[in-house]
Amino acid sequence: MDNDRPPEFPQPTGRTLLIDGAWRAGAESFARQDPADLATVTGTFARARAEDVADAYAAAGRAAPGWAGTTFDRRATVLHEAARIIERNLDTAAERLTADMGKAIGDARLEVQRAATIFRYFAGELSQPTGETYDSADPSTLLLTLEDPVGVTCAITPWNFPFAIPAWKLAPAIGFGNTVVWKPAEAASGSAVFLARALQEAGLPDGVLNLITGYGRELSSALTSDPALAAITFTGSGGVGNVIRRSVADRNVKIQLELGGKNPAVVLADADLDLAADQIARGAMLSTGQRCTATSRAYVDGEVWDEFVELLRGRVEAMTVGDPRDPATDLGPAASLAQKETVDDYLALAREEGATFVCGVDQADHECFVSPTVLTGVSPGSRLVREEIFGPVVVLLPADGLEDALAQANDTEFGLSSTVFTRDLASALEFVRRSESGVVHVNRETAGVEPHVPFGGLKGSSTQAREQGKAARRFFTSIRTAYVRSG
Ligand code: NAD
Repeated sequence: MDNDRPPEFPQPTGRTLLIDGAWRAGAESFARQDPADLATVTGTFARARAEDVADAYAAAGRAAPGWAGTTFDRRATVLHEAARIIERNLDTAAERLTADMGKAIGDARLEVQRAATIFRYFAGELSQPTGETYDSADPSTLLLTLEDPVGVTCAITPWNFPFAIPAWKLAPAIGFGNTVVWKPAEAASGSAVFLARALQEAGLPDGVLNLITGYGRELSSALTSDPALAAITFTGSGGVGNVIRRSVADRNVKIQLELGGKNPAVVLADADLDLAADQIARGAMLSTGQRCTATSRAYVDGEVWDEFVELLRGRVEAMTVGDPRDPATDLGPAASLAQKETVDDYLALAREEGATFVCGVDQADHECFVSPTVLTGVSPGSRLVREEIFGPVVVLLPADGLEDALAQANDTEFGLSSTVFTRDLASALEFVRRSESGVVHVNRETAGVEPHVPFGGLKGSSTQAREQGKAARRFFTSIRTAYVRSG
């Protein structure tokens, strides 16, 4: 691939398995439709079989010693170059992302830029100090730790951030000297082909990154049971996370699972209500609510309930739903018909349970599009309050002060992200201390993470092997201890 030529765009045509540096087709293929217009096919992708996955692991195993033996600056050069190629092709990459899963083009561009930033961040991280030295009880011994690559790593990624999530797994995996078998979500396969080609063009040796397109449920055993597998990093739903956890439970495979969320916002009586409405509208609705960190519950103090509900209604009703390629669009379609149907089922449940639709109407006739929806009058025990909907839907519930709001916000199996809106420093700090979530915000939406700090959830949202920032080094390296005496 020439740097100035976009990588296989607009339509991959079947040769989407990257194994040992060669692109090949599968015995079968699958097509993807544009979620904004289901009549348009946006690519045909290899539907890998177990044999392809075995070939990918074999290639990753062969490449592992050589790649682990390269210098950090050689690996950093590849990551820097990948960042440069992604940025040079930013428009094309963003269009590909939008074609895959319907993200509004402005958000798609920001995500692609973020992926480039992540590659650049980890390129820099490779030159940071590694290991530690200790005093030894034996004065003639030098005692130190070494950080080595873990080995062959499997990365399984979701469709909701087709560039950013793979970037925050692949950059540290490859950067710290591991080789990778990567299985992206079916709906993100076009973006995955783009990213893999960018890394190949950046000079990654054959076999260091192997791309497997296809259906996760068909490849589960092949992906998780290969003897070469040393570590698995997965982002996706709790159900699939549990399948993966169980399938490697009796083997010593290092495992990182980042799962779903049901992220609460708390609006206290002293909050800046304009700010809270603005941030909660964004946090709940942007990316069509398909962010693991999206705000999906908001506990609003009774004193400011009426005023806040009206402000939020105004913000949400001002959002534009439509063609994701129009820069003025805030919300594109749901990523697929299946995803739209899942959201519709929750909205049907809301109607059955007698919830009030503050805004949002059923748009079942409009293919994958969903209106941003604000619900009140929902019982705290409802599935609407307890389950991840993964659509542009937020449930408002009344709260009576900080203690009550904290108790309700923490009453969930999830623990990914949370936020509080208040002008009172003591309340803000109390919320930061006691909110049971891996990421806590104050006066900000629940979504949005920066690449140089650790990211991940508590409780059912994560195995707590943190991603991003310096924390990523801990997962993608193995620590060994050396006792060194001169003779
Ligand atoms: P998903 O669990 O359906 O799929 C994720 C990946 O797993 C895909 O690549 C899929 O092909 C693969 N897969 C499916 N079945 C498999 C199996 N049996 N064995 C192995 N792999 C299998 O999730 P999704 O619908 O792609 O993504 C949405 C979910 O991801 C939401 O729950 C969201 O909260 C979560 N998510 C979490 C984070 C986070 O960092 N915590 C970030 C983004 C998304």
